[in-house]
Amino acid sequence: MGARKHTANRVVLLGPPGSGKGTQGVALAQHLGVPYVSTGELLRAQSGHDTELGRAVAARINGGDLVPDEMLLDAVREPLAAAFEAGGYVLDGFPRTVSQAQYADRIGAPERVVYLAVPDDVARQRVAGRSAASRADDADPDAVEHRLQAFHSETEPLLDFYDDRGVLARVDAAQPPALVRAAILDALAAEGRP
Ligand code: ADP
Repeated sequence: MGARKHTANRVVLLGPPGSGKGTQGVALAQHLGVPYVSTGELLRAQSGHDTELGRAVAARINGGDLVPDEMLLDAVREPLAAAFEAGGYVLDGFPRTVSQAQYADRIGAPERVVYLAVPDDVARQRVAGRSAASRADDADPDAVEHRLQAFHSETEPLLDFYDDRGVLARVDAAQPPALVRAAILDALAAEGRP
């Protein structure tokens, strides 16, 4: 009899716009029975408020720029803290920078970080395909390019950050959703270094 495998339940999903973080994240959180937290959703809710913070957040999101850390934490500190305290979580869109990853380490480091890898052209096509749905930042090609650039410059460094500690799993997210889901579950059940 082999040792029983531990399925990680503090999970971060990393990936460019259109990589499927939302679709996969909601299903995964349900499967694991842990909270799903999307900083993008929380920020979009905040951006609908007619307050100084709401207007500043809206300007960043609609332009496809990252929301600065201080503003981000004002908007998401409490729901994030609640997810970390719940003992398990699926995070979509956080951390997105090395400094955010250091913040996450202080309140409860992820056991697994799943990188949903898709080429830029697939990301562009998917975002364009859903843009009729509602989001201003999906409908504006300049904002989409900014988001892709922000992913490459600000978020990609997290791949080495987490790979160095043995918690990174790379999944081919250009596959159909059911195969991506299966690959994520495999990655969570695999032995990790920590
Ligand atoms: P996507 O991954 O498709 O770009 P999200 O809903 O995750 O969509 O994010 C939408 C926008 O919200 C981002 O372009 C950025 O402006 C803002 N945002 C979300 N999460 C963060 C974060 N952790 N730090 C800074 N900005 C964020």
